[in-house]
Amino acid sequence: AESFNEAVAGADALNAYVEKTPELAIEAAKAADEARSSVSLKPLSGIPLGMKDLFATEGVLTSAGSKMLGNFKPPYESTVSANLKAAGAGMLGKLNMDEFAMGSSNETCAHGNVISPWRREGSNAGITPGGSSGGSAAAVSARIAPGATGTDTGGSIRQPAAFTGITGIKPTYGRCSRWGIVAFASSLDQAGPMARTVRDCAIMLENMAGFDPKDSTSIDAPVPQWEAGLSSDLKGKRVGVPKEYRIDGTPAEIDALWDQGVEWLRDAGAEPVEISLQHTKYALPTYYILAPAEASSNLARYDGVRYGLRETVEGGGLHDMYKATRSEGFGDEVKRRIMIGTYVLSAGFYDAYFTKAQRVRALIKQDFRKAFERCDMILTPTAPSAAFGLGEKTDPLAMYLNDVFAVPASLAGLPAMSVPGGLDKDGLPLGLHLIGNEMDEQTVLNAGLAIE
Ligand code: GLN
Repeated sequence: AESFNEAVAGADALNAYVEKTPELAIEAAKAADEARSSVSLKPLSGIPLGMKDLFATEGVLTSAGSKMLGNFKPPYESTVSANLKAAGAGMLGKLNMDEFAMGSSNETCAHGNVISPWRREGSNAGITPGGSSGGSAAAVSARIAPGATGTDTGGSIRQPAAFTGITGIKPTYGRCSRWGIVAFASSLDQAGPMARTVRDCAIMLENMAGFDPKDSTSIDAPVPQWEAGLSSDLKGKRVGVPKEYRIDGTPAEIDALWDQGVEWLRDAGAEPVEISLQHTKYALPTYYILAPAEASSNLARYDGVRYGLRETVEGGGLHDMYKATRSEGFGDEVKRRIMIGTYVLSAGFYDAYFTKAQRVRALIKQDFRKAFERCDMILTPTAPSAAFGLGEKTDPLAMYLNDVFAVPASLAGLPAMSVPGGLDKDGLPLGLHLIGNEMDEQTVLNAGLAIE
C-alpha cells in the first residue's frame, strides 16, 4: 500500500489518473500471494494494470474524459477489463484521456490534460504524451504502471506510445471485444495493450482478446499464443516500405530513423521491398469524415435522459433540457466532431461526403490487400513528429495531420504497432510503426521484437 501511495503521488503530477482504485490492485495482489502456494496461479496473477477511462468498470467511475459522464459508475464491466481481471490482473485506476477519445494530445480532457514524463533537453516546458490514450502512455512511460489498456480508432494507442517511448499494439479490428467500451467510431474502435516491451504487449493482448457474442463485429477465432510464438528471426519475411509515406515536411531525422528501421529488419533476416499504397493521401480526409459521422450517431445517446449529466432549464421543455445538457456536457472538440458528423450525414451531403468516404475506404483496404501479396509486414514512422509542447498546436487541422501515418491501418482494420526507435535532436522519443496483414499480429510482434 505504501509503495502504491508513492507511485500515485508521481502519477498526480502527470494527471494520469482520473480515479485511483488501490483496493482493487491490492485485492489482486493478495489473491496472487494465495495462489502462489497452490496451482491456481493465472497468467496475470497480481499484476497491477491501468485502465483507460473508456472501459466500463463496474461501480468505478467511467467518464470517457467527459463532463457528460462525470458521475457515471456503470453497473457492468467491459469484456476486455473482465478478461484481464479473470486472468488475475488488478486495476490501479482509470487513466485520463481525450474526451470520448477524440484528440491527439490529451488536451481535450474534461479533467485537464495529461503531462508527459518527458521533457525536451534543456527545457522544462510541458510536453504532450499524445492522445487519446495519453494517461495510459504517461503512466507506463513513467513506470507507475507496468502496463495499461488503450483504445485506437485512428492511432490513439500507437501515437501516444511513440510520443512516450513505449510499445503499443492495436490488433486486427474485431480481436478485442468492443462491448463495454464507450463508443467513438464503432467501425474503427479497437482495444489494445500499452506496455514497456513487445513481450509484455503480447502477454497482455493474449488476455484481452477473444470472441465475444456481445459484440457483433467480434472475430470468432481462437486467440493465438503470441508470447510463445515470439521470435526476432525474420528470415524469409519481406518488409514493405510504402513510397507514399514519404511526405513533404516530415523532419529528416524521422525519415532517417525509418531507413534505420529497415536496416534493423534486414539484419534480422527480412528482405525490404518497395510497395505502393496509392490512396494514402486520401486516408486522413476519409477518416475525418467517417469517424465524426459515426461519432455523431454514437453520441446522440447523451441526451440527459439516460446517462450522466442532466441540465434542466427553469420552465423549459424536453428540447431545452437536451440543449442545455449537450451544451454543458460536451467540450469544443467533441462538439466540432458532432457538427462535422451530422453535416456529412445530412440528406443533402450524404452522397458527396459519407458515401464517397466509404468508397475511398474500400480502395484503401484494397491497396493493403495488394501490398500484402508482395510483403509480410509494412514499416513506416508512427507519427510525422516527436511529441509537441502542450498548448503548441491550436489549429484543429494541424492536430489532425499528426495522425497521417496511423489512420490508414485503422481504416483497413489491420494490426499495427508502435515500438520505440530512438530519440530526436531534443531527446524526445520517436516510434517506428509496423502494420501487419489481417489476423497476423504475430509477424508484427516479431518484427517489433527485432527492432526493440
Ligand atoms: N487522434 C485521432 C482522433 O482524434 C485518433 C483518436 C483515436 O484513435 N481514438 O480522432
